[in-house]
Amino acid sequence: MPLLIRRLPIGPYETNCYLVACLNTMEAALVDPGDEAPRLLNEASGFQVRHILVTHGHPDHVGALAEVKTALGAPVAFHPLDRPMINIAPDVELSEGMAMPLGDYTIRVLHLPGHTPGSMGLLIGADLLGGDTLFPGGPGRTDSPDDLVRIVKTLREKLFVLPDDTAVYPGHGAVTTIGREREASKGFLARVEAGWRSCGDLTWESE
Ligand SMILES: [Zn+2]
Ligand SMILES: [Zn+2]
Repeated sequence: MPLLIRRLPIGPYETNCYLVACLNTMEAALVDPGDEAPRLLNEASGFQVRHILVTHGHPDHVGALAEVKTALGAPVAFHPLDRPMINIAPDVELSEGMAMPLGDYTIRVLHLPGHTPGSMGLLIGADLLGGDTLFPGGPGRTDSPDDLVRIVKTLREKLFVLPDDTAVYPGHGAVTTIGREREASKGFLARVEAGWRSCGDLTWESE
C-alpha cells in the first residue's frame, strides 16, 4: 500500500522529476533528474535509491543525470534509441516489457515512441509515469507528422488500453487519468488516423 510518488518540478521548464519509493523498504527510484541536483539529492536522502530512470533524452529531463549518478552510485537506465541525446551511457538499457523491482513493488516498462524514439513509460500498479507522451489536454510535442502518427499509435495501443482510473504523472504539469484523456482525445485520434498531417505542440482541440 504505501507507495510514495513525490512530484518535483525543476528547472526553467518546470520539468517534473519524480521520487518514487516503497515506504515499507525505503527503496526508491529517481525519475528524470533534469536539473537542480542538490535539491534532488536532498529529497532522496533517507531513501535507498536503486534506480535512476530516464523517460526520454531531452535536456530538461537529463541535465542533472551525471551529477546525481555520481552522488547516489545507482545505475542509470534509459532506452538505447535516446542514447544520442544523452551524455552518459546507460548502465541498464530499458525495453518494452521489462520489470524492475522496487521494494514491495514492480515497475513495468513501456516503450512509447513518438515524442522521442526512445520515450518510455513506467507503470507501478495503477500509477503511470508517462514522460512527455501524454499531458492533461493533449499529446507530447512532436517534431514531424510521422512522429504524430507514431505517438497516436502509442496512445491507442499502449496507454489507452490501461484502466480508466490509472493516474498519469506527466513530464510537465499536473496529474491526470487515462480515462479522462482517452475520452477527451477521441476526435483528435480519429483525425490523425484518418490522415490529418500535423505536428508540434498540439491539444486535443487542435484542427
Ligand atoms: Zn521531452
Ligand atoms: Zn519535457
